[in-house]
Order: sequence, then structure tokens, then C-alpha cells
Amino acid sequence: MPIREQIRIKSRKEIDKLKEAGRVAANALRVAARAAKPGVTLLELDKLAENYIRKQGALPNYKGYRGFPATLCLSVNDRVVHGIPNSYALKDGDVLAIDCGAKLDGFHGDTCLTVGVGHVSETFKDLIATTQLAMFLGVSCCKVGLRMGDMASSVQKFAEARGYNIVRDYIGHGIGRDLHEDPQVVYADQPPGTGFRMEAGMTITIEPILNTGTHKCLVEPDGWTVRTADGKISAQFEHMVAITKNGPEILSYPDTEFELEDGL
Ligand code: MG
Repeated sequence: MPIREQIRIKSRKEIDKLKEAGRVAANALRVAARAAKPGVTLLELDKLAENYIRKQGALPNYKGYRGFPATLCLSVNDRVVHGIPNSYALKDGDVLAIDCGAKLDGFHGDTCLTVGVGHVSETFKDLIATTQLAMFLGVSCCKVGLRMGDMASSVQKFAEARGYNIVRDYIGHGIGRDLHEDPQVVYADQPPGTGFRMEAGMTITIEPILNTGTHKCLVEPDGWTVRTADGKISAQFEHMVAITKNGPEILSYPDTEFELEDGL
């Protein structure tokens, strides 16, 4: 079946439901991000996010997904994605990617950001800031009539011009009543003018991962945690986006009181 047939177009009502789920996930993400200080364990962060999500009458949608055991994916330093929260206590200077999902009223939220723990080197601050900019550049390309390759090539060009490499093995996705829907969304190696054509009502995630070294990754023996092949540092940001006739609409903003000090 051609890919277009498999992409579920959402109504305004469905987009609003996704935005509610996205808001809960975005708030929970920041509850964990605020608590991410030296000495705090990954399991403690996971519990904080889970408690917040359940209090909102939502469910942590990663928990149990293909057997994943936790609410958050917590990926420290050279961990790229899908880090399983454990008893590791955060250290000053760590780079922590927090990925959070919540299901509310039948719809899925999914969002991610990266923070520095305590005092972080200028090099890592640059990686984090550049990754966030790459994500927003991708969001800005979510326009009716553009193709995935137009977005991906812009993001790749931006990241590589700043000396970073985009991970190929882990990509974005459609989102709706299922956490992972069609289409698959890539951020590299997709030429302009190729890939699916964006239409109003498509809802996708923009979630590029930037590495300071090689884009290549390895999976840890736990079967989940992914790390960079060369042990260098990685960062990721993710927003859910609806493509509308008025332009991209971000579906994973937090409430104002949950925003982080640097405006994240
Ligand atoms: Mg995602």
C-alpha cells in the first residue's frame, strides 16, 4: 500500500485531544527535568513523572510498551535513546535526555528534551542548544505541500554545518490513537522533494538526535538502552506537531507554570 494511504488524517477535535495528552506529557517531562540535580537517581525521576501523569488521570504510555519497564526513557551522556531508569545517581556535568509519554482519553502524547545536570561544559551546552534549534527548524518545515525530504535536508544541513551528526537508526513517527503511527519521519539522508507530502491534519513527531561524534549507535545487552558507537555525547529534543493550513502547530507545550528557567 502506498504510504499516503496509511497516514491517519486527524480532525480538529482529534488534534485538540492530542494536544491535551501532549500537555500532560510535557508537564511531567519538566517535573522530572527540574528534579534532575546531582545525586538524584534516575529511578527517582521516573517515579516523579509517573505520579504526575497518574494524578492527571492519564497513563504512562511507555510503561509496558513492548515490555519497556518505566514511565521515562532517561539517556545520560553517551546513551542515545531508550535508557531504562535505574539506580544511577546523576553527576555534575551530565547531559540527560528525558523522553516522556502520556495517554489521555485515548490519545498519545510524546515529547523529549535534554538538560545539563549542575554545571555543564560549554561544549555540551552548545550541543543541547543546537539540538533544540534543529528540532524547531524541523517543526518550521512542517507545512502543507512540503515533503519530508525538504524538512530532513534542512535539519541535516543545519546540524552538520555546526559539526554534529544526526542519528539515522532512531526516527520520528505519526502519532494519534497509537503511539507510533505512519509515516516514519527521518531527519537525514532524505533529499529535498522526496518522501511523503505534508497535508493538513497529519500529526507527527519532530525528534532529531544529534551526536558530537559518529551517528552510529549500539544497543546495550538490556535490549533497550542505545549508546553512541564511539562513546561521545548525544542529545535529543522532540515536539509533536500538527500540520495545518495555518502552518505547524506544536502539540506538546507545557503549562506556563511548568516551564523551565531557560524557557524550555
Ligand atoms: Mg517519539
